Amino acid sequence: MAAAKSVLLALDRIEQEAELTYEQLLVLETNLLLGAFASHDQHSDMRMDIDNMSYEELLALGERIGSVSTALSEEQFEKCLRRSIYRPVATEAKERVIDDIKCSICQEEYMEGEEVGRLRCEHQYHVSCIHQWLRQKNWCPICKASAEPSIMS
Ligand SMILES: [Zn+2]
Ligand SMILES: [Zn+2]
Repeated sequence: MAAAKSVLLALDRIEQEAELTYEQLLVLETNLLLGAFASHDQHSDMRMDIDNMSYEELLALGERIGSVSTALSEEQFEKCLRRSIYRPVATEAKERVIDDIKCSICQEEYMEGEEVGRLRCEHQYHVSCIHQWLRQKNWCPICKASAEPSIMS
């Protein structure tokens, strides 16, 4: 597993430096993981049935390998997110930005009544989308600011 682990570490560095979209990252990550496992297979009789794995299973696999990952704990997650129920802004807010009407992770516009969560950097996502993301990363997908709850507050 050492090879896969170093790949993931390298990947984390790339992600934090490069301006990639969430989709690009997922593709990159999946490809690298597959590559890591392919080479791993040559040195081991443990075979992983990656071809038959669902996307979710692949993600879960990545999480397991990346046990060194910087993911937030459930407790930190609850602290770092300000939850609210989405309500369309009735008035024409001057500073209304695209981030406030659609989720940058799934690219869907928020529907009235959906549960949304705001990080410390003020970026907003679906609670379920940002939860998924923060299980693997500890930074905002848009601005890469740390999502960890500050020790002061
Ligand atoms: Zn979303
Ligand atoms: Zn942000």
